[in-house]
Amino acid sequence: MKILISNDDGYLAPGLVALADALAPIADITVVAPDSNRSGSSNSLTLDRPLSVFQASNGFYFINGTPSDCVHIALTGILSEPPDLIVSGINQGQNMGDDTLYSGTVAAATEGHLFGLPAIAFSQVEKGWAEVASAARVARDIVERRFELFPEHFLLNVNIPNLPYAELKRPVATRLGKRHPSEAVIRAQDPQGREIYWIGPCGGEKDAGEGTDFYATAQGHVSITPLQIDLTHTKQLAELKRMLP
Ligand code: MN
Repeated sequence: MKILISNDDGYLAPGLVALADALAPIADITVVAPDSNRSGSSNSLTLDRPLSVFQASNGFYFINGTPSDCVHIALTGILSEPPDLIVSGINQGQNMGDDTLYSGTVAAATEGHLFGLPAIAFSQVEKGWAEVASAARVARDIVERRFELFPEHFLLNVNIPNLPYAELKRPVATRLGKRHPSEAVIRAQDPQGREIYWIGPCGGEKDAGEGTDFYATAQGHVSITPLQIDLTHTKQLAELKRMLP
């Protein structure tokens, strides 16, 4: 089995190293990741400058681009044949609810999905890398069970509580929750006295009820949400077709 691994926290991130270490015994792995932290880069591709591919002493490839660039270039320029699976993460911090639209971790998996390949994004709920080895073991479990869970094509979003492996509750199937709108922008002044802005923190949980990723992880479960990429609003399309036959 061949697995392509990427992330959005950069090629030096502990979550990426832990994921690669966990999967190396069961697969032929290739790691292609951004050269720096590109969290929040969503599905962006770099089109206004060329990209370079470098290789670290541990064999990891790194690129001066986004997570989507990394998977795109891996699939079209580095790998001689498509991998059997694309895995992204393990991200430092949760990607639940609306986070999935901004996430570079989910985007790396999505890029594989857009190439017709099965893909899984992994994130730890809390930042700080506590219990990252436990999360990597969960990731390996899910990779090993993927065809039992999903015989065909899949794009999975997995969030793992920062708990020791023995204290984690079983994986459960979830839907994405929803957040409130983001917190206010943070205003500051640069050293020259000019006003600058920092994007504020994401909003709190709005729909975090039973069945959501927020709820499952708060109970100590590993959350697995199957995703699809289809932005068409089917109900409104039917209404619009009636108005614009
Ligand atoms: Mn990240």
